[in-house]
Amino acid sequence: TKITDHIRNANGKPIFSIEVIPPIKGDNLKNLLDNIEPLMEFKPPFIDVTYHREEYIERPMPDGSIKKIVTRKRPGTVGICSAIMHRFGVDPVPHVLCGGFTREETEDFLIDLHYLGIDNVLVLRGDPAKPFNTFKPKDNGYSYASELVEQVVNMNGGIYLHEEDTALAPSNFCVGVAAYPEKHFEAMDPDTDFDFLKKKVEKGADYIVTQMFFDNQKYFDFVARCRAHGITIPIIPGLKPLSTRRQLQILPKLFHLEMPQELVKAVEACENDAQAREVGIEWGIAQSRELMAAGVPVLHYYTMGKADNVARIAREVF
Ligand code: FAD
Repeated sequence: TKITDHIRNANGKPIFSIEVIPPIKGDNLKNLLDNIEPLMEFKPPFIDVTYHREEYIERPMPDGSIKKIVTRKRPGTVGICSAIMHRFGVDPVPHVLCGGFTREETEDFLIDLHYLGIDNVLVLRGDPAKPFNTFKPKDNGYSYASELVEQVVNMNGGIYLHEEDTALAPSNFCVGVAAYPEKHFEAMDPDTDFDFLKKKVEKGADYIVTQMFFDNQKYFDFVARCRAHGITIPIIPGLKPLSTRRQLQILPKLFHLEMPQELVKAVEACENDAQAREVGIEWGIAQSRELMAAGVPVLHYYTMGKADNVARIAREVF
């Protein structure tokens, strides 16, 4: 079932959903599934599974040279999607990246998803491969998510990359894209960033998921701006409950967002991470309640490994 249909079928009642991250290579998938099992009580109709591209490690060799090694630390997105379907009967939403793929590889990847019966994809550019600062597409890959949206939409119309392939059956993906209420870090200014978001929508995106934010006003302003510019598709807020004191510094750096002063003060007053986690849960409950009252279609939680705090929030608000 498509995300947009899940939203329609909910008849205005907010939906609970989550995002999970594949385990570090070699770790047990069972841990991840057991970890999110308690959240099934809140009936998520869909679960996002992130995708992670390669990173480059520079390893000094005994002869003094530097060997550049390509690693994929968290493979397994498609397998996890399949496991989620089988174990929980929930629609998985694999993230599909520009980075690290040629167009042909992307096409094959999408055909796999289609054959698995997956109806939704979240289309993303991907971050620059660590340790680089600028995003570099693979040869014959895409530089921007909007280009990848176009490829998926073409496939939905039965148009594949090469003319001789067009006898293939059309796919039928519901296409999500990312947006940043506090601006994408590379964009010159909010207006430019906004124009490129519009482009993703014009190319055929069906819904938007936001980067995490801790100040609901940023989300409300962003939605108002989208609506004023004629973007009418659902805008799903992404929420991350703060869970350690260190995240006060890390999250703004990693995700380019501002922490509200009230939250900063509350976390700074904590003596340990257990207390900070409680503050994060309380903040998450308040954020969720306000968003729900404002009529958001979905509350989408980034679990980032641990899900007990998300369960505490969901128990209070759903
Ligand atoms: P784009 O929409 O392509 O935008 C990237 C930048 O380019 C922006 O600054 C934009 O303003 C600019 N831009 C866009 N089009 C043009 C153009 N035509 N000309 C010039 N500039 C342009 N990363 C992962 O690696 N794996 C994941 O699973 C993952 N999941 C995510 C889920 C969500 C909900 C979000 C919000 C982010 C996720 N990310 C993930 C991170 C994401 O890949 C990065 O934020 C990335 O830097 C941008 O991706 P995008 O799809 O928003 O890019």
